[in-house]
Amino acid sequence: MKINYKNSPDNKGYFGRYGGQIIPPELKSLFDQIAQEYEKAKKDPQFIKEYKNLLKNYVGRPSPLYLAKNLSQKLGGAKIYLKREDLNHTGAHKINHTIGEALLAKRMGKKKLLAETGAGQHGVALATAAALVGLECEIHMGAIDIKKQQPNVSRLRLLGAKIVSVNSGGRCLKDAVDSAFNAFLKDPQNIFFGIGSVVGPHPFPMIVRDFQSIVGQEAKEQIIEQAGRLPDYLIACIGGGSNAIGLFHEFLNDDVKMIGAEPSGRSFKDGDHAATLTLGSPGEIHGMFTYLLQNKKGEPMPVHSIASGLDYPGVGPIHADLKDKKRIDYVTISDSEALEAFQILTKSEGIIPALESSHALAQAIKLAPQLELDKIIIVNLSGRGDKDLDYVEKILKQKIDKPKK
Ligand SMILES: *Cc1c(COP(=O)(O)O)cnc(C)c1O
Repeated sequence: MKINYKNSPDNKGYFGRYGGQIIPPELKSLFDQIAQEYEKAKKDPQFIKEYKNLLKNYVGRPSPLYLAKNLSQKLGGAKIYLKREDLNHTGAHKINHTIGEALLAKRMGKKKLLAETGAGQHGVALATAAALVGLECEIHMGAIDIKKQQPNVSRLRLLGAKIVSVNSGGRCLKDAVDSAFNAFLKDPQNIFFGIGSVVGPHPFPMIVRDFQSIVGQEAKEQIIEQAGRLPDYLIACIGGGSNAIGLFHEFLNDDVKMIGAEPSGRSFKDGDHAATLTLGSPGEIHGMFTYLLQNKKGEPMPVHSIASGLDYPGVGPIHADLKDKKRIDYVTISDSEALEAFQILTKSEGIIPALESSHALAQAIKLAPQLELDKIIIVNLSGRGDKDLDYVEKILKQKIDKPKK
């Protein structure tokens, strides 16, 4: 029997054996209420109309599907198409689901959107949606990240978000998650927790997946219009997995190969990477059962990637399931490979990609020359690289300044 890969999660939130709701029992009704309201919203033509209207006239969808001719010719193999999520308002795919979350929160009568943020990208996307829909917004951010990410901190402030500086633990993303969740628990009636990826307890992985799947729906129509057929490969980078499943979901039951690119960072040593599906094992994190990078006690390990949007020790449960079912291949890309891909795309096409998206590009750059000229690869260009310019310049300068041996 053929597996229907799109037919998940079940009504308890399981994708195969992964996902679920690992939360204190007293919170269960809270999450179930969100699931029920979401099911109603999904069937409400008014809700869908408002969401689609904002995607079109505010975000700027559909995002183009662009045949990167120069890059493809340079590599001398398969044709590479780019799904241009970098052209969305705010510069990445995240706005697709934060607007959906904001509309759902408003529909449920909530007053405030709340979340944590690491580099600030999710915080900015959520604060933007809050400003648009007319909700308050509160963003928890590690004190160290606040220092490192000044432009995004300014954006958050200007957008009217309340920024909570987190001074506990390592003062980074993991501590911000704990802080945000505690703040949410103090007033769950008025607050909607705006999750940043296809992670967390049910129904969040499903809700974020559904809102992001617009990416693949558009890509399918666009590639049929431009090339007259389905692609051979889809490639996307994996942090929590939202941009990847956004592109993949519509194609899961088709004869199309899919590759998720995880960051192997500086090396495969503990703490040097965030290659969760490649090197992790099943366990519990942030209210879900999924693959994670964990120590012997089951605690999440420190992670690293040159792309701050990818340094997460867990991954969305849908990817854990699709890995086990061998529907999607998960591979690793190092910091230096991503940096190289960043420069190759910029010089060959005049498109500056986000360092996250550069991981997907690096995989396409490896794969394309091995394929025939008539093969087609679609890469999800999840975001633009403006946010990474200072950092990239600093690294490239260090390389140049290093004396040659
Ligand atoms: C946040 C981010 C990612 C990683 O998140 P996913 O949920 O894995 O998509 C990837 N690309 C960009 C540009 C991002 O901002």
